[in-house]
Amino acid sequence: QAKAAGRNIVRFFEPEMQARAEMRFMLEAELRHAVEHDELRLYLQPQYDGERCMRGAEALLRWHHPRRGLISPASFIPIAEETGLIVELGDWVLRRACRLLTMPALAESPLRISVNVSPRQFHRIGFIDRVRDILAETGADASRLTFEVTESLVIDKVHQTVATMSELAALGIHFSIDDFGTGYSSLAYLKRLPINELKIDRSFIQDAPTDPNDAALVDAILSIADHLKIAVVAEGVETEAQAAFLASRTPMLYQGYLYCRPEPVEAFIQRVRDTQVSG
Ligand code: C2E
Ligand code: MG
Ligand code: MG
Ligand code: MG
Repeated sequence: QAKAAGRNIVRFFEPEMQARAEMRFMLEAELRHAVEHDELRLYLQPQYDGERCMRGAEALLRWHHPRRGLISPASFIPIAEETGLIVELGDWVLRRACRLLTMPALAESPLRISVNVSPRQFHRIGFIDRVRDILAETGADASRLTFEVTESLVIDKVHQTVATMSELAALGIHFSIDDFGTGYSSLAYLKRLPINELKIDRSFIQDAPTDPNDAALVDAILSIADHLKIAVVAEGVETEAQAAFLASRTPMLYQGYLYCRPEPVEAFIQRVRDTQVSG
C-alpha cells in the first residue's frame, strides 16, 4: 500500500522537479564519496591593498570530479547544506586552511586566510569545539583566520550568533560579512556583533564606474564601514575602470580576476614566496 501511495505522489511531481531531485540524489552520494576519496581541492584567491601588496587570501572549495571535471561550489554547497554534509566539507576546508597557515612560506608572513562558513555549519551544535580541535590539531594561529559569513546567517538566530561569534572572536578569529548588501537585513547587527570586515558584493562593483546608483551604494557601504571602523574588501574586481573607481575612495583591499584568479595551493604558496608581502 505504501508503494501505491508512493507512486501516486510521484505523479504530482513536475518533470523538472523530478530531474532536480534525481540530480541532487546523485550528487549527494557522489559528494559523500568525494570527501572520503580526496576529490576536493582548496583554491586560494589573493587579496591586495592599494599598493598591490598581498595581504591575505580567500580559501575557495573545488571539486575535481573524476568524470564531470571541475564542479563549482555554487552547485554543490547548497546540496551539502541541505544534507548536512557541509559539516564534513567545512571541517575539511578549515583543516586545510589551518595547515596552509602553518607552512613555512605563510608562517613567516602576516598573511590572513579567509574561510567561508555556511549557516548550517555555523549554527550546528559543537561548531566552536570543532574549530578549537582543528586549531589545536594543526597548531594554526587563530588570529590570522577570518570567517566569512552571510547576512542571512547573522539575522536568522541573532542571540545564538552573538554567543558563537563572541567565543570565536575571543580565540582571535576575525569575522567578515560576505556579499554585503545583497541580503536584506537591518544594519543594527553591525554594532552588536564582532564584525571586522565587509565584503562589497561583485554586483555593486561591476557597474560602479558607469552607474551612479551602484556608485552611491558602494559609497554608502564605505561610509558605514569607515564610521564603524570596519575594514572593506571589494570582491570581483575585473577591470581597470573598477579598480580606478575604488582607488579614488577610502582604502580597502581588492580581490578579483583583475589581480589573480583562484589558484591551487601549490601555485599560491609559490606566489607568496615570489611576492613581497607586507603586514
Ligand atoms: P564567495 O564567498 O562570494 O566567493 C567569491 C566568488 O567569486 C568565488 O566563486 C570566486 O571565484 C569568484 N570571483 C572572484 N573574483 C571574481 C571576479 O573578478 N569575477 C567573477 N565573475 N568572479 C570572481 P566560487 O569559488 O565559484 O565560489 C562561489 C561561492 O561558493 C562562494 O562565494 C561561497 O559562497 C561558496 N563557497 C566556496 N567555497 C566555500 C567553502 O569552502 N565553504 C562554503 N560554505 N562555501 C564556499
Ligand atoms: Mg566568500
Ligand atoms: Mg563573496
Ligand atoms: Mg559573491
